[in-house]
Amino acid sequence: MEHIISGVAKFQKDVFPAKKEAFQKLANGQNPEVLFITCADSRIDPNLVTQTEPGELFICRNAGNIVPPHSNQTGGMTASIEFAVAALGVTHIIICGHSDCGAMKGAINTEGLASLPHVKEWLGHSRVATEVVKEKCGCSSLTHEEHLGLVTEENVIQQLQHIKTHPAVAAKIATDQIKLHGWVYDFESAEIKTYDEATREFKPVKDTYEETIAKEEQ
Ligand SMILES: [Zn+2]
Repeated sequence: MEHIISGVAKFQKDVFPAKKEAFQKLANGQNPEVLFITCADSRIDPNLVTQTEPGELFICRNAGNIVPPHSNQTGGMTASIEFAVAALGVTHIIICGHSDCGAMKGAINTEGLASLPHVKEWLGHSRVATEVVKEKCGCSSLTHEEHLGLVTEENVIQQLQHIKTHPAVAAKIATDQIKLHGWVYDFESAEIKTYDEATREFKPVKDTYEETIAKEEQ
């Protein structure tokens, strides 16, 4: 914990003064372009991976980057999504899974979750992903890594479906005001694979956003 406290002190002494103007602008309001939904895993830093600054990403995190389908029961995800979309007016939603995800391992092996009843129930929102992979590939033919990778991808696809059931999101999609993106981040290579709805495949980030990345490399 000590290094966290000294981090706060360092931030206040060195970092904040250097970016004072930017922080002052943000002091009274935010106008993020993107709602970024990812796993609570400590190894993902959305701002680091996307090289963005405070104020640019509205971030929602939970175990498994799950978006429960809309219901009349209010939860933290439902309220945060509604706020980001209807009040802040984000124009993009990124749902980002990741390699070596503990939540996805739990979704594959729910018997191992007997002592974690809430985790088990929460991961019920990922059940479609495990079922789809089972049907498509037959789990026995896959290595553990392959199985986990496919479930992680399928989970992102499933959560993209779920978010479309939220009324505020559905309204913006219907009027072309919002774009959805499904990503999977790999810790080992820093590769981000992105979901292509037309082909139902994940492909490298540079293929999906070719023009933008070409501009960056010039
Ligand atoms: Zn995770």
